[in-house]
Amino acid sequence: MKCQRCHGLMVVDHFIDMEDDSGHLWMRGWRCVTCGDVVDPKIHRHRLIQSSLRDRMAQVLARKPKKVREVVRLSA
Ligand SMILES: [Zn+2]
Repeated sequence: MKCQRCHGLMVVDHFIDMEDDSGHLWMRGWRCVTCGDVVDPKIHRHRLIQSSLRDRMAQVLARKPKKVREVVRLSA
């Protein structure tokens, strides 16, 4: 997996939330070894949905026919 910020290498890492009142909360996610960006599964899923919507919108826009303009000469 590549980092969306810097295109660096993302590695699987485990994160502990010590502030959680319900005890230790472990989270498995990805961390960029270059810039330190952290992506958890929820963020990753959201980004996939966003990119899918963006791709679908690009396909719809690409399918729209371009307006054809007719050239009319004003002088005979
Ligand atoms: Zn990065």
